[in-house]
Amino acid sequence: MALSLRDTGLLKTQAYINGQWVDADNGDTFDVVNPASGEVIAKVANVGAAETQRAIEAAEAAMASWKALAAKVRCDILEKWHDLVMENQEDLAMLLTTEQGKTLAEARGEIAYGASYIKWFSEEGKRVYGDILQQTPDRRGLVIKQPVGVVAGITPWNFPNGMITRKVAPALSVGCGFVLKPAAETPLSALALAELAERAGLPAGLFNIVPGLDAPAIGGELTSNPVVKKVTFTGSTPVGKLLMQQCAATAKRTSMELGGNAPVIVFDDADLDKAIQGALAAKYRNSGQTCICANRIMVQAGVYDEFVKRFSQHVDQFQIGDGLQAGTTHGPVITEKAAQGIHEKVQNAVAEGANLLTGGKISDKGTHFYEPTILTNVNRTMRVFKEEIFGPVAPIFKFETEQEAIDMANDTEFGLAAYFYTENMGRIFRVGEGLEYGMVGVNETAISSEVIPFGGVKESGQGREGSKYGLDDYLEIKYLCIGGLTQG
Ligand code: NAP
Repeated sequence: MALSLRDTGLLKTQAYINGQWVDADNGDTFDVVNPASGEVIAKVANVGAAETQRAIEAAEAAMASWKALAAKVRCDILEKWHDLVMENQEDLAMLLTTEQGKTLAEARGEIAYGASYIKWFSEEGKRVYGDILQQTPDRRGLVIKQPVGVVAGITPWNFPNGMITRKVAPALSVGCGFVLKPAAETPLSALALAELAERAGLPAGLFNIVPGLDAPAIGGELTSNPVVKKVTFTGSTPVGKLLMQQCAATAKRTSMELGGNAPVIVFDDADLDKAIQGALAAKYRNSGQTCICANRIMVQAGVYDEFVKRFSQHVDQFQIGDGLQAGTTHGPVITEKAAQGIHEKVQNAVAEGANLLTGGKISDKGTHFYEPTILTNVNRTMRVFKEEIFGPVAPIFKFETEQEAIDMANDTEFGLAAYFYTENMGRIFRVGEGLEYGMVGVNETAISSEVIPFGGVKESGQGREGSKYGLDDYLEIKYLCIGGLTQG
């Protein structure tokens, strides 16, 4: 289906540097492809290290006056930006579905979710407080918070809008300048956000976008340039570790939102209807391509058979297809390579003895579509237990005791999100406190919003996005010692 926008000015294909829409220095472009159809939607400027360096310089120059403004002035522009995003929700959702594949309903939800972070930080940015410390009679300490400096952001394709706003909005609200490298698969959503920020009155140079295929070159500049004081990354754990290493040379601050391996634990005493609905949503949202998607479903022996039967009845109703078409419940996965990677994990499980209850292959709808899949008779040695599947595959594990469930859930290097279902209050505290995760959903899998601190522990990352804590990553603490107070 061709891309048709009400406001064609939102389809931007150049880089955005210092408030100018510019081509790559060498005029090079790269293709953005609709994963549902394989069609090329746009050719986008393919920039590299030199353009990135100029974007960093622009951010540094622009933030000198931006950080000196009253917070209210900055936050009013953010509020206007939020309003414009919501006014253009339909176009932005259309762009998002066309470059990323999720259904239009999910894309609309993501635009509202992304906008909620802009709104939130247009409010929180006014609430940066310090302290006065009483030290001795003749001196006081002042603790003030100042913007960290130029921030570089690198974001993934699975949430091409929301993963950007939750970094850019807090950074701008406290006075930082920003340079963003969006995922190569989904630059259009990012560029449209910049267009709307400009329309909202954001001064030139504060929000720069450097799209490109050479991630190591762009990332190399962002992580080595001494002007950049902070790198905020959302993406896979291996790339996050690499960026942290690169940042070490100039001792940059980092925030890392990395991979997950979320368990959904269903105890015998759970409300099974709620648990099934929660597990379905957590597993198959965005065709299984979210960092907090259920990766391992763990069900206690007493309700295992019933859970599997009812869960699979729901999965049989799914309609995969083009996210823009009415009736589609689940879109494609991002690339053919991704579909093949998912299939390899399923094949590994089957080769090691798993039962394939449904799905288990690339769909006849096309090479980007993977059939919703359920595996039973699965165990801890299989790749579907150890690795992030990032696709519509539900391995359903069986356990006997509460301690076994906690041990299984924690048997991973990841620690982003976990979920469990029980009606027992004591168990809620025991299991909630025993799970080694940054976020735990109890009888709930829709846990994310702008008001909560989103983030992981262990190899799922560091730092928190959203909530009152989401500003801390963009602020430095400074201590001023005021002496000589008793001398008349
Ligand atoms: P990815 O391969 O790590 O890519 C993420 C971003 O990093 C993209 O912009 C990519 O650019 C860039 N990148 C890749 N190699 C780079 C390098 N050497 N230097 C600088 N930048 C580099 O991850 P993905 O496949 O896009 O996203 C899926 C992963 O993100 C999953 O592991 C998921 O769990 C995680 N995720 C985590 C969260 C969270 O909040 N914790 C949220 C969403 C997703 P190119 O696109 O140009 O390759």
